[in-house]
Amino acid sequence: MPLADKFGRQITDLRISVTDRCNFRCVYCRSANPENHMAEHALLEWEEYERLARILVSMGIHKIRVTGGEPLVRPGVEDFVAQLKALGVQDLSMTTNGHLLAERCDRLVAAGLNRINISLDSLDRDKFEQITRTKTFDQVLAGIKAAQASPLRPVKVNAVLVRGINDGEVEAFAEFAREHDIVMRFIEFMPLDADRTWTRDQVVTAAEVHQRISARWPLIPVIHERSETARKYRFVDGRGEIGLIAPVSHPFCGHCSRIRLTADGKLRTCLFSKEDHDLKFMLRGGATDREIGDAIIAIVHKKEKGHRINEADFIPPSRTMVFIGG
Ligand code: SAM
Ligand code: SF4
Repeated sequence: MPLADKFGRQITDLRISVTDRCNFRCVYCRSANPENHMAEHALLEWEEYERLARILVSMGIHKIRVTGGEPLVRPGVEDFVAQLKALGVQDLSMTTNGHLLAERCDRLVAAGLNRINISLDSLDRDKFEQITRTKTFDQVLAGIKAAQASPLRPVKVNAVLVRGINDGEVEAFAEFAREHDIVMRFIEFMPLDADRTWTRDQVVTAAEVHQRISARWPLIPVIHERSETARKYRFVDGRGEIGLIAPVSHPFCGHCSRIRLTADGKLRTCLFSKEDHDLKFMLRGGATDREIGDAIIAIVHKKEKGHRINEADFIPPSRTMVFIGG
């Protein structure tokens, strides 16, 4: 029987974080100060991930995204992608900051990756360096180019807009999408940053982005699956696509089909869950596949109705984005 929660939502989509480490320190995600990483022994081994993925695929998961931290910093991730493919995962994708992508793209394709999302928060070199606290602008652009030259489709580029930092670039990003025929996605800034500086007035809403882009280039909505996070638009007069992801201004929890596995083997039913559920403990404690499957059914059943970002009593989760897996 497919996995479902008590609100009748079918769970078909798994995000796997393969590391909490990252070679960037994006201002909306990590802190400028060193954070405590998970201890090496706390991270799941590849065979532990594979076992959990096999159990979850047998329970109806058919869409898996490999993420982190930065997934490409963990050696062996290509072999893991191949293992996921061998399980029969239909839709296999990765989210990456793109820094190491150009040199790894061919191996990811050979491993069976279907598609890729690359983060790029500024088209201006100085601003990019200010946001990511790295000097890797050229490598990320090369990563996008390599993905476009590969069979990975679609290639999506993600930008988190933060008012006062990169909100002036909405139109430039739209031009970038048109020029390079890519899917450019704008993500609302969520209260998951390590420095806990998020405020509502820093959020650039999807409505504002839509209004600004369509004032220059008329947009047509594209039909999308209800469980998809992005509302999609094509340009009336050209190539490229726009995706608007509005978890703050238009929560899409009612159609959520996702669960998340953290790098230390915890299952999370929402980005904003107050608690997570320890599957590593079961794996390392000798639990059978049947016992783990039963635990997953019980955990999923308790999936939250929705996040509470817009409630007066909202408290951000103790884990921040880099430790959950976006
Ligand atoms: N390191 C990879 C990357 O940056 O693409 C994968 C992990 S990252 C946590 C996954 C996604 O989460 C990225 O698109 C990133 O921009 C987004 N993200 C991180 N912190 C966020 C926040 N506070 N609000 C909204 N999106 C965020
Ligand atoms: Fe690293 Fe991705 Fe977070 Fe940036 S958004 S710090 S690249 S995990």
